[in-house]
Amino acid sequence: MKNSQPKYIFVTGGVTSSLGKGIFSASLAKLLQARGFRVTIQKFDPYINVDPGTLNPYEHGECYVTADGAETDLDLGHYERFLGIETSQANNVTTGAVYQNVINRERAGDYLGKTVQVIPHITDEIQRRMLQLGETGNYDIVITEIGGTVGDIESLPYIEAVRQLKWKLGEKRCLIVHLTLIPYLSAAHELKTKPTQHSVKMLLESGIQADILVCRTEHPLNKEIRRKLALFCNVNVNSVIQALDVKTIYDVPLNLLEENADEIVLSKLKLPKHGEPDLKNWKIFLSRLKNPTQTVKIGLVGKYVELQDAYKSILESFIHAGAANECKVKVVSIQSEHITENNVEEKLGELDGVLVAPGFGDRGIEGKIIAVKYVRENKIPFFGICLGMQCAVIEFGRHVLKMKDAHSTEMNPKTKHPVIDMMEEQKQITEKGGTMRLGSYECRLFKKTKSFDIYKNQTIFERHRHRYEFNNKFLKDYESKGMTAVGINPQQNLVEIIELKDHPWFIGVQFHPELRSKVETPHPLFVAFVKAAMEFKEKK
Ligand code: GLN
Repeated sequence: MKNSQPKYIFVTGGVTSSLGKGIFSASLAKLLQARGFRVTIQKFDPYINVDPGTLNPYEHGECYVTADGAETDLDLGHYERFLGIETSQANNVTTGAVYQNVINRERAGDYLGKTVQVIPHITDEIQRRMLQLGETGNYDIVITEIGGTVGDIESLPYIEAVRQLKWKLGEKRCLIVHLTLIPYLSAAHELKTKPTQHSVKMLLESGIQADILVCRTEHPLNKEIRRKLALFCNVNVNSVIQALDVKTIYDVPLNLLEENADEIVLSKLKLPKHGEPDLKNWKIFLSRLKNPTQTVKIGLVGKYVELQDAYKSILESFIHAGAANECKVKVVSIQSEHITENNVEEKLGELDGVLVAPGFGDRGIEGKIIAVKYVRENKIPFFGICLGMQCAVIEFGRHVLKMKDAHSTEMNPKTKHPVIDMMEEQKQITEKGGTMRLGSYECRLFKKTKSFDIYKNQTIFERHRHRYEFNNKFLKDYESKGMTAVGINPQQNLVEIIELKDHPWFIGVQFHPELRSKVETPHPLFVAFVKAAMEFKEKK
């Protein structure tokens, strides 16, 4: 049934960045979803890049690709993992995208005669996008996370757009949740509310009164602090919600439930409670996660390992797959630039499995290839994702097929053995933004392969983000020596999955399975890989 009157929740952040607005939004959404509401979440980012696709992972963490091929903020990954839904291009908006649209319309003559300004043109475009998902009629509640911190210059148009929307939609359809930090001064043994008071005031200066305060804190908030926050921030005492630091982000929905966050939201939006939230599967997941019966050590070989956020979805996929196997997965980050022939044994010898990560460019590539050689020869479970799969192909070409200069033309355009080469359709493209092979594509699996046994399905859809691919000219040579293509994109005949015979578990995929792993439906490849690592460990 279409809902023509969806409710809107806006989540703003105060005091500092990195308070976890994304996790909070996803957790609140989870509770509302568990009560039977159709919920989606969108993120508005105040930077000028049209999308984060052109950002280095060191700048902004992983770029999360949606099924419809949008390169988006990594928070969309949290939304999908928590809610089990698919997000899309419409779920992530940046200032760059907003301006691009307004400027294109100006050039087309849509505003003929008018001066095009931040207010009303930019704020109107922001509002249009804020309402876009709700207007599909597919949702009861749309949560919008506003990136950045209140007080930032670049957030101002968003805050103004929210103010106008609240005024237009009215109290019952619009709610402002402000996420802040209550710092603890250890010298004084005291939690401090002043930064929160200031940030709520700053929001008020822009015409927005927060309805609910969510307070990140290392220590529980007592009644007195809650009363103080309520009094000085102009909110009800029961609308002061504590968000204590947690061991795993997956605890946050349950902590919010204890604070009655969902009920407070529903009562303010005049929505029925629908009984108790159904969190059965979520709790089963948590109990498996917290009570592992075994441990495995898996190496994550990549070049962005110093920054946890760069491989966010891979790390989360291991958490889901570990829980499914009741096994704690210890991920050991290994900087591929530091791997050499001499130290590879020392770096990888103790591991129960190795994942070679996606990536772009030359840096660290030889270390990845050395890592693949080591796990191939020592029969350690191997999982290669995108560039990781390409490295497996290069390594096999060099050392088994004896093509010494085998390489990807991304790294060596002059190689005589371009075993990984640019896709035909990519050759004419010169613009960098949004032009890779992006989003969900079909893959047909061959029977009697490991991958088929894992997916238990012949047709699968997985998400992509790459320009290069396996060069089919070499396929016969590879297959004759035991590296086979077991999954193919039928439309373009592209190799999507390779496997190695005579190896307990050696799978490389051109796509990104980590983007589809969810708490309640862990990705089968990750589940199988963790299981293979457990079996490998047992036999050691
Ligand atoms: N750089 C490689 C390509 O463009 C791999 C990309 C990736 O790992 N996401 O094909």
